[in-house]
Amino acid sequence: MPELPEVEALTAFLRANAVGRVVTRVDLAAVQAIKTFDPPLSALGGLELTGVARLGKFLDLDVSGLHLVVHLARAGWLHWRTGLPTAPPKPGRGPLALRVHLAPNDSDPPAPGFDLTEQGTRKGLAVYVVRSPAEVPGVARLGPDALEVDRDTFVALLAGRSGRLKGALTDQTLLAGIGNAYSDEILHAARLSPFKMADKLTDEEALRLYDAVRATLTEALERQVGQQAATMKGEKRSGLQVHARTGLPCPVCGDTVREVSFADTSLQYCPTCQTGGKPLADRRMSKLLR
Ligand SMILES: [Zn+2]
Repeated sequence: MPELPEVEALTAFLRANAVGRVVTRVDLAAVQAIKTFDPPLSALGGLELTGVARLGKFLDLDVSGLHLVVHLARAGWLHWRTGLPTAPPKPGRGPLALRVHLAPNDSDPPAPGFDLTEQGTRKGLAVYVVRSPAEVPGVARLGPDALEVDRDTFVALLAGRSGRLKGALTDQTLLAGIGNAYSDEILHAARLSPFKMADKLTDEEALRLYDAVRATLTEALERQVGQQAATMKGEKRSGLQVHARTGLPCPVCGDTVREVSFADTSLQYCPTCQTGGKPLADRRMSKLLR
């Protein structure tokens, strides 16, 4: 799932390559992806793309005052392309959700553009055309950005939060930009259990977590920015210490990375680094062993 570093890198890429170009046409291929109807998608045609911003994990394209807001969800991605097919895509086939055609510069015909795609059968990619990003409910509810929040605010947010750290870090209304992958990485870097209660952290632990948020996201961002949009997804995996590495050795201590599964997601952690060597209860695993 694209999180803060990936979306920030896409934002930087689009700023460099797409801003200043006119949107010539937008093709909708996955009807369920569009969540608004007024203004219509066609209203973007003929207008200049004037800015790109990241709002949490949302991408906000400012098209001369109209906003195309994109949430890539779990399996969505943006592919920059040159020489897009001019024929409209057939709806409902393959991973294509939305195609944005841009006008070429004098120096570079064929016309570029980008595809928003989504793999898999569970479709969550969402696109909104609004006059202000705050009209998107998920944007209006966002907490402070994970890379911009100051230390005191961060500590106060956690202290006021009941529930486990894993849930707190990934709650976009508390802190915007962190998802399943980087929360695993942050908790590993902070040497904290994902099951620890957010409001039970000592001052020292809260500061360690704050530093881990900044360090993990900044390092990931440095790896991502500057790469071509098409290759960023693969790169995300290579920098990870525990996320999606169940059964592999922890790069810090060599212990085996373990997993806890939930109905539709899972988390990974290192027992030695994070839980005093004790494996966390995993309902699915205990059910299988019973
Ligand atoms: Zn470890």
